[in-house]
Amino acid sequence: MTFYMKKTIISISFDDIDYPMGGCTTHLTGLFLIELMKRKRIELADYPGLVRLNPAIPWKTRGNAATLVRLVVNSYDDSEDIFEIAKSLVTQYCYERKETQKGPGIVMVVGKAWEDPHLRIVYRRAVHDVVTKDLIEKVLDKVKAKKWGNRGVIGATAALAALAPGDPYTFELIAYRKPELWGTKRCLYFDAFWRVEAKLPPCVFNNYDILKRKVSAAPQGPDPILAGFRGTCPGYLKCYKEVLCEEPHFWLLYRTNQHTDQYNIPTFSFRPYKSGSIKGTVISDPLILQGSHVLVRLMDKRGRKVNVLFFRETGPLKETAMHLRSGDEIEVVGSFRPFSSSKEPVFAADKLHIMFVSRTSLIKNPRCPRCGARMESDGKMLRCPRCGFKLPKHKIVMDIPRTLKPVTITAEEGQWRHLLMPTFLYTPRLIKLPIKINNNQIVSLGFNPPVIDPSISCGEH
Ligand code: ATP
Repeated sequence: MTFYMKKTIISISFDDIDYPMGGCTTHLTGLFLIELMKRKRIELADYPGLVRLNPAIPWKTRGNAATLVRLVVNSYDDSEDIFEIAKSLVTQYCYERKETQKGPGIVMVVGKAWEDPHLRIVYRRAVHDVVTKDLIEKVLDKVKAKKWGNRGVIGATAALAALAPGDPYTFELIAYRKPELWGTKRCLYFDAFWRVEAKLPPCVFNNYDILKRKVSAAPQGPDPILAGFRGTCPGYLKCYKEVLCEEPHFWLLYRTNQHTDQYNIPTFSFRPYKSGSIKGTVISDPLILQGSHVLVRLMDKRGRKVNVLFFRETGPLKETAMHLRSGDEIEVVGSFRPFSSSKEPVFAADKLHIMFVSRTSLIKNPRCPRCGARMESDGKMLRCPRCGFKLPKHKIVMDIPRTLKPVTITAEEGQWRHLLMPTFLYTPRLIKLPIKINNNQIVSLGFNPPVIDPSISCGEH
């Protein structure tokens, strides 16, 4: 660490802060911010960051999330204090429950981490590939970071340079449950979801499917999250307060790389746990597997073959894949599955972009020019079975009309993976960092969410 006396930006990041029966990195980050606000006058340099990494990573518990807090501090001692607070909170959170934990990690770096090229490389790699501990050690050495913990240090390091100016982002406002309620049924007014959603602009998404009347904002498990509301317009997210009949312990507004397609990077190595996009030509008609999943074989420009899997749960994505035919040119975004017994790599698709729809045709005997019946082979000639008319033998090519059109399609709302960008979304980007943000715009205790824009009204219900 370098010594300094004047105002300086620090970034502190967390990952793998959960344990078998609950907990969550984003929750610990909220507790950390609340603790900091109690003990110090803190100056935020950005919203707290919720950073999704490679969705194919096998060590993840749920959605492979790391978190990030950017602060302006006054002195070296200040940053040391902050690191110590983080360490003692994480220790309490993970170890004092006496449950086998997985390997929490904390990293802190001084300066504008988002501008550091080494940290940017780690972030870019971590969203679509497996990052080794060796690379992390080297980079942390270079940037003179302070680190603590185990495997979580990988994700925490990757998060440091995420959400840089120019990067797309969205928001998630998360309501956390009181600890005594963890593991019990969540109290939500399901009817209120419909009313709230119907009044909000389309910049809120993946919270409730109005057509199917299905809630996607609330998880099911024993974790501390009551509900998380997503959108690109943070001012409107407070309106979802109406759907809660359980008083949250606290609320936290995150800026996040969710739904920004950051993992959509062309992938040229076909190996397990890699995510990205593959362009190629369909070389088989779709195969319907047990469980109604659909498999399509694809060959890329280098002649390598890959089985692309469209899970039944992806709904319209799988339905569209069923209409693919040999010769179609497509691009798929998704992740490689672990090695399968078939030895051929299997890529699970989250998004399908149809670039070119091929002609499909049938080769047949022509119709009889006299009566219109289909001609039949008769030695070296063709013969009409109805009127006996004869023609020299030849075939005709008949086009089969295709219903498929060039289109980009994803699973339906509620089934999107965290990083997947829906086709309708326009994502904002920051021009510069740091930004000025007040504590009460991002965190609040009890029933009322933090208010980022008081001029926004949620309307009469
Ligand atoms: P939670 O929501 O509770 O944080 P999670 O689904 O985010 O759970 P973690 O418990 O954070 O999962 O576990 C993910 C682990 O994988 C972490 O230890 C993290 O350091 C590691 N990891 C994340 N991305 C990569 C990557 N690209 N390469 C290698 N390791 C990674």
